[in-house]
Amino acid sequence: MKLPLFPTTVVGSWPRPNWLLQALKRRRAGEISVDEFNRVADEAVLLAIKYQEDAGIEIITDGEQRRDNFYSFIADKIEGIDLKTVAEIIDLVPDKSRFENVLRALDVPAFSIRNPVVVSRLKPRSSIAVDEVEFLREHTDRLIKVALPGPYLLTRSSWVPGISDKYYSSREDLAYEYVKLLREEIIKLRDLGVFFVQLDEPVLMEVVYGADRSQQTFMCAALFTRENPKEELDFALELINETVKGIGGVKTGVHICRGNWSRREDALLKGSYEPLMPHLIAMKVDQLVLEYATPRAGEIEVLKEYGFDKEIGFGVVNPRTDDVEEPGRIVEKVDRLAKYIDAGKIYLNPDCGFGTFAESPVNTAWTAFRKLKSMRLAADMLRREYGG
Ligand SMILES: [Zn+2]
Repeated sequence: MKLPLFPTTVVGSWPRPNWLLQALKRRRAGEISVDEFNRVADEAVLLAIKYQEDAGIEIITDGEQRRDNFYSFIADKIEGIDLKTVAEIIDLVPDKSRFENVLRALDVPAFSIRNPVVVSRLKPRSSIAVDEVEFLREHTDRLIKVALPGPYLLTRSSWVPGISDKYYSSREDLAYEYVKLLREEIIKLRDLGVFFVQLDEPVLMEVVYGADRSQQTFMCAALFTRENPKEELDFALELINETVKGIGGVKTGVHICRGNWSRREDALLKGSYEPLMPHLIAMKVDQLVLEYATPRAGEIEVLKEYGFDKEIGFGVVNPRTDDVEEPGRIVEKVDRLAKYIDAGKIYLNPDCGFGTFAESPVNTAWTAFRKLKSMRLAADMLRREYGG
């Protein structure tokens, strides 16, 4: 299938209906089985598909309707990972008092602080996203995108010294286990006909900006950290490149953002991509999916300075606002970017998902739909302008 210029897509999650959240709660409480939950989630996925198709989006996801959030759902998929509350692990967190202050000061929803922790050797219970894709492809003819938690995010969030080191000799040892699992998954998804696999690595921004204490912010996947950001970025880069190494036949990408748990922009991380650029450029993926609708992401000129030559998933609508971006404004932004980057490499997407954490969607489905529609209108205008 040949894509038009400026293909439109989403980053991942879609706001979940209330009846799905009820079912999610009941599943967690053990009141309904996974199969019963999935019958409810099927209906929610159909709605998410319908909204995206009606908005004219060319590459769609299942809205992550079956997941509780973008990373801790793997506890359901892989044996050896337990969800632990902050209360259960706080004594192991370095710099505990600072962390407690930050939690109090910020708009951090308590439920989002259920962190996946490695509590034994990992063993896949099932695939990570094959079930999602099998349902999705039965119900759409559109190209399919799947977001998976990246190897660095998984390692960073689930390696808890004092617990995990009883089962893995080092954090690196665990990280390579994730690399292996993710590689197997990407190959399965490709064989199912998935067009685009995106690895989510939002904590990379936390690595470069999280230590800045003037920025009172927090990412729940980053409870445990190392002191040296450069070493962390090198490590993340190596893991990402090992994960995708030699896998052809499917588009791969990495998504990076500054947090999406709150509508309070001042609670989220802020800073340009500049400190990350050398590592971003060295990632052996086809596309980088970047926030650019929020001013917190800085200017696009940084891409030019570093000779960015990959595809870019260009964030053109802010998932956390009520205002719907005008198509004309989106076109202007893309025109600016197209001075530095080949128009054939620009994809349009929102900055992030609309419902990263199930219980705290950052928008309504209706506003999310209107934002997608505006994005598609902008793409139509751009296609006329650039002759695609
Ligand atoms: Zn994001």
